[in-house]
Order: sequence, then C-alpha cells, then structure tokens
Amino acid sequence: MAYDRNNVFARILRGEIPCKKVYEDEYVLAFNDISARAPTHVLVIPKGEYVSLDDFSEKASPAEMVALVRALGHVARQRGVAETGYRILANIGRDGHQEVQHFHLHVVGGRDLGAMLPRK
Ligand code: AMP
Repeated sequence: MAYDRNNVFARILRGEIPCKKVYEDEYVLAFNDISARAPTHVLVIPKGEYVSLDDFSEKASPAEMVALVRALGHVARQRGVAETGYRILANIGRDGHQEVQHFHLHVVGGRDLGAMLPRK
C-alpha cells in the first residue's frame, strides 16, 4: 500500500493537528492515544513515511530502527509501567484492524491487561 500523506499521524507530525507529546527525538514521536484504553496508552511512531511494520523493516535505516526501540523502552520507564508490566501492540493491515495508515506501536499498561487475544 502506498503511503498517504493525509493520514492523521502525518498531520500530527506536520503540526497540523495537536497531540499530547510524551517523547520526541530526531526519528520518533510519542504521544497519548486520543481514545486511551488503559491508564497508560501511548502511541510511538517513526517520523518517516512507513505504512506498516513490514514496510518499516524493509526500508527504515538502522538508526531509525534503534530509535524506535529505544523510544519504546523510554516511554515504558517514563510512565512507570516498566515496573508493573505493559503490552506493545501493532495493528497491521485489514486483519489487524489498522485504522491509521502510518506505522505505529501502542504502549499500553497501568492495569491488568488480561489475556493476549480472545480465543475464537
Ligand atoms: P490502529 O490503527 O488500529 O492501531 O488505531 C489507531 C489509534 O490511533 C487508535 O487507538 C486511535 O484512538 C488513535 N488516534 C486516532 N486519531 C488520533 C489522534 N488525533 N491523536 C491521538 N491518537 C489518535
């Protein structure tokens, strides 16, 4: 899928839409999810134009990849969930119910998150 520059996270990166910033560096922005599903619900996104994890893993530079992983750990520690536990989620594509077509990772915690996935 081609990257759509009008997706909501691209607009946040351009400063066209506000966000509650949690962390930022050269390669990464992290901000609170607008519809938080847990006391901690932060979205961590690369600044580059990637649609999905597979797109990111194919095209991103090593520096972008390191920055993303380091930002995830930073957010978890900053929010205090590194102590109590948390979950990293990425919804990808149709079956993953991805709503925003800019690659992002959810950092969710601050309560018991239950089982990983409902069994069908
Ligand atoms: P998904 O693509 O399925 O991982 O879901 C996209 C996530 O982005 C949802 O959890 C939304 O609540 C969140 N979201 C959508 N618009 C915004 C926004 N303007 N600011 C922060 N989070 C948002």
